[in-house]
Amino acid sequence: LLHGVTSSGKTVIYIHLIFKALQEHKQVLYLLPEIALTVQITNRLRCVFGNKLGIYHSRYNDEERVEIWQKQLSNEPYEVILGARSAVFLPFQRLGLVIIDEEHENSFKQQDPAPRYHARSVAIVLAQMYGAKTLLGTATPSIESYRNAQLGKYGLVTLSQRYKDIQLPTIEVVDIKDLRRRKLMSGPFSPRLIAAVRDALQRGEQAILFQNRRGFAPMIECRTCGWVPHCPNCDVSLTYHKSMNVLTCHYCGYTERVPEQCPNCESKDIKGRGYGTEKIEDEIMEVFPDARIARMDLDTTRTKNAYERLINDFSAGKTNLLIGTQMVSKGLDFDHVSVVGILNADNMLNYPDFRAYEHAFTMMAQVSGRAGRKGKQGLVILQTKNPELPVIQQVVNNSYTAFYKSQLEERTAFHYPPFFHLIYIYIKHRNNDIVESASMELGSRIREIFGNRVLGPDKPTVARVKTLHIRKIMLKLENGIDYKLAKQYLRSIRDTMMKEKRYGALTIYFDVDPL
Ligand SMILES: [Zn+2]
Ligand SMILES: [Zn+2]
Repeated sequence: LLHGVTSSGKTVIYIHLIFKALQEHKQVLYLLPEIALTVQITNRLRCVFGNKLGIYHSRYNDEERVEIWQKQLSNEPYEVILGARSAVFLPFQRLGLVIIDEEHENSFKQQDPAPRYHARSVAIVLAQMYGAKTLLGTATPSIESYRNAQLGKYGLVTLSQRYKDIQLPTIEVVDIKDLRRRKLMSGPFSPRLIAAVRDALQRGEQAILFQNRRGFAPMIECRTCGWVPHCPNCDVSLTYHKSMNVLTCHYCGYTERVPEQCPNCESKDIKGRGYGTEKIEDEIMEVFPDARIARMDLDTTRTKNAYERLINDFSAGKTNLLIGTQMVSKGLDFDHVSVVGILNADNMLNYPDFRAYEHAFTMMAQVSGRAGRKGKQGLVILQTKNPELPVIQQVVNNSYTAFYKSQLEERTAFHYPPFFHLIYIYIKHRNNDIVESASMELGSRIREIFGNRVLGPDKPTVARVKTLHIRKIMLKLENGIDYKLAKQYLRSIRDTMMKEKRYGALTIYFDVDPL
């Protein structure tokens, strides 16, 4: 595990190690999250390794994939494969090194559809099969990987200095609860943030504003009667996208026009609530009318070229103020960003999941890492209603180890990974009554064998998606249990349930080690 702070020069180390492997006539697999597979990194490696380098990702069509597959089986395979998670399934002949960069990234796990696998785990097994070395690299290790290093299962190398002595950014916390009360906020922006961005732009530098919600407003509501439009297929409110003037479901893609008046009380006073990136963009334009603003989120990067263009324009200084979702935190290196604003840390911290703090810490540390380059310390303005939370201080002090310790304490106390293995069992059906009784029966069958390791069935946060009602059963298995046997039991229970005629088209599936 290579734990190196942002800009500590991890890629330089990777290139060096790849060279060594090639000298020994070995092949190398270099895995990156899909989004980080940019032209920049591809060009950089191509410059060094030329036609020894093959690239593999999900945007390739079947023919291109077959071509690479055949080449890997031929007498002259690519020596180095740079790829997204699916590249772990390519054939290798003499694999000697596997690099998993940004190992903390959730996108290494394929969630839907099956096969549900984590490319990091698959890659480690693959490397073992070939007797190859594995290197995990990140500025913010996953709790699981760091614990493996602590237990001595992995070696650990720490780089705590940035490459070429660039300083880590200063992180200032701004209490927006207090400012709101004193009516000192301009929409989502604190006076401190506005001042910092203004200074940066005046000095000819750039700024990034991070908000982890796309669209204009997470929901709209009628100010007279409180009516909120919901998706007809899912149990969620619709997100307002102003530029298209539509309401969209982020789970199934359902879209409708924004109503002129409330269908409930006919009032015309319908307003958005909360801030998405689109609204941030709108409001920052009013504060800085002369800034050259760009927005990077799922909506502005539907095509591959759009994503590259946004990055290139910002790198070249054609734009100087970038607003974005977590996309802006994905290992992009910009030379002139001096200020990063985290608009609302609480969105991430309040998410109902045991990994919420891990995700929040990772995201804040990664996005902060975009600030400050050659000869200039960066500044991060972190806006939150909860400045007293330990996790905020851990981000400010860039203290991964303190964060790790506090997480381990919680995970031990509440029986979560890495101390327990989790399996989520999902039950889906069109009919709510059927899903209810089927999940109750499934729950009690599993409980007969696994006892109090079983929790639920419960309704997940979003209990209906694409017209299917969902229930979730959580299974917590202590380390050292016989997983093969557990798997056999679960499979046979599922198969029995699926054969029950009265449940009709019931879907049951397992998500092992869910993220
Ligand atoms: Zn109304
Ligand atoms: Zn929907």
